[in-house]
Amino acid sequence: MKGLSFFRTIQAKLIIIYVLLILIAMQLIGVYFVSSMKNSLTDNFTKDLKARAEMLSILTADKFGSEAGTADEETAVESLRGMVNNLYISGAEIQVLDASGKIITTSVPSQNDYVGQRNTQTVVSRALQGISDNEEYIIADDNVRKKVVAKPVLSGDKVVGAIYIAADMKDLYATISRINSVFLSGLLLALALTAVLGVILAHTITHPIKEMTRHATAVAEGRYNRKMPVFGNDEIGQLSQAFNYMTGRLRDALSQNEEEKEKLASILANMSDGVVATDESGGVILMNTRAAHMLGSEGPLPEGAPLDELLGLDHEQSGSLAQGNAQSAMLHLSPMGGEDPNIVRVTFTPIHRREGGGIAGTIAVLQDVTEQENLEESRREFVANVSHELRTPLTTIKSYAEALDDGALEDPQLAVRFVGVIRNETERMIRLVTDLLHLSRLDSKESSLRIQQTDISEMLEDVADRFSFQIRQKRIHISTRVREDVASAWLDRDQIDQVLGNLVSNALKYTPEGGMIQLEALKNEEGMLAISVRDSGIGIPKKDIERIFERFYRVDKARSRNMGGTGLGLSIAREIVKAHGGSISLQSELNEGSLVTFTLPLKQEGGSAS
Ligand code: ADP
Repeated sequence: MKGLSFFRTIQAKLIIIYVLLILIAMQLIGVYFVSSMKNSLTDNFTKDLKARAEMLSILTADKFGSEAGTADEETAVESLRGMVNNLYISGAEIQVLDASGKIITTSVPSQNDYVGQRNTQTVVSRALQGISDNEEYIIADDNVRKKVVAKPVLSGDKVVGAIYIAADMKDLYATISRINSVFLSGLLLALALTAVLGVILAHTITHPIKEMTRHATAVAEGRYNRKMPVFGNDEIGQLSQAFNYMTGRLRDALSQNEEEKEKLASILANMSDGVVATDESGGVILMNTRAAHMLGSEGPLPEGAPLDELLGLDHEQSGSLAQGNAQSAMLHLSPMGGEDPNIVRVTFTPIHRREGGGIAGTIAVLQDVTEQENLEESRREFVANVSHELRTPLTTIKSYAEALDDGALEDPQLAVRFVGVIRNETERMIRLVTDLLHLSRLDSKESSLRIQQTDISEMLEDVADRFSFQIRQKRIHISTRVREDVASAWLDRDQIDQVLGNLVSNALKYTPEGGMIQLEALKNEEGMLAISVRDSGIGIPKKDIERIFERFYRVDKARSRNMGGTGLGLSIAREIVKAHGGSISLQSELNEGSLVTFTLPLKQEGGSAS
């Protein structure tokens, strides 16, 4: 935070206000006090002068009236001089005047020359007229301020003379100026003390404020664990407590918020569906990793990118998306790493504003329905296949039955052949239905395995024996080989017999006369029993190997059907092996032969060794 210049701080403002307050108060007091003190001193001074003049006028009253030039007069003047000199007033001149205003005597020896001269000042004239209260303020020639008072000297009712006193006011003004200077120094001292007190007082206020500012900055930067010291129990102390309480609440609220956010983030991150949120303009504001994966985006989420472009929506679709109509679309999206496109159902839900209506954005939920769609597709295909497979023999049966009906029955030779065909087709249908039932039982996991310890060598020999007639017929060389370490295993004998039967029957079907079939059992690298059926037959083209275990998949439909195949043999084998916890694979080279290998666990579930 930026530092404040000193004059903008509360401290400076407080000090200035205090100093100004004291200055104004002292000035007001000073003006009032000094002027009233000056008045009082001047009044006292004047009163004193008047009292002395009064006293002197009374004392000197009987000294007037002597004949001029007589000895009496001289004695009277002498006695007046003595009185004037006795009544010493510092810095004052006392004159005694006769009725005509002539100076009879003066207290200032240097003024003796004026004796006999007339004092013509107004105060003197007024006193000689009998006015008793006469005073005047004069500034003498030597620039000295003086107070002048004059009193008539009365003999009975007659004015016989006057007393004149002119007193120097120097001392009085000196006293006033001394008091002024004491007052001024007092003022300066008070100002200095006020400034110091102001600094201390301001500090007690600004220090907690500065502390609080520091803490508020720390809180704003996310440091909530620092506690603000509480200075006393005054308003600032209460503010500090409130601040600490607020920080605590803020920390709790934020951590709760953080927790909620983490929860939401982990829900979003662990969702199997993709979630994308957009703002009102359709720009992506949030996307979970699943959605990013589905959209094939690598690295950071493309925030702000338009969702309709990311989803590859056409104009019409993005139009209705913008209008906020909740709807879903089926899209083919290529996921990350350039895998095959997935079928994704995208459901758009508009986010309505709480206030003012309108749409604040859209939530798009992306569900990968590839597997579902594929299952649906294979189900449709399966039904179509089953119908087709059943239809073919039924059509044949129908046409032969019709032929018999149309007269073939009359020809015994033809009739026997036709009945034979009908029986063959019926048997094929029975085989087909039996296979289908078997598959359906395997699918619904209805048929539980009856696991038993089985001698592998005996089992393989048994299979070879079952097909010995065809083998001999086709002059095929068959061999079985069982490694010692897999002499016996835990398996469902009937089911595995069926697997081996299907595989050997296939090998026989697709191996020309004079070929060979090898049955072998060994322990593979994973410690599983691996049983393989190898033939030197026609083999399977590379492109078909991948789909060979699918239901009804046949390399050459017509030939397989002629050979009595249902196209379900390998899929039944795969389901049985899977139910045992093993796997089945096929390798083949066209015109060289095929090798089908299936694995089975050697140990019984539960852990006992074979
Ligand atoms: P099918 O009953 O028609 O034999 P399968 O599921 O057993 O049905 O086999 C599927 C297809 O795989 C067969 O139609 C055949 O084309 C091919 N096939 C299976 N085994 C072999 C093999 N040993 N040699 C050549 N082709 C084979």
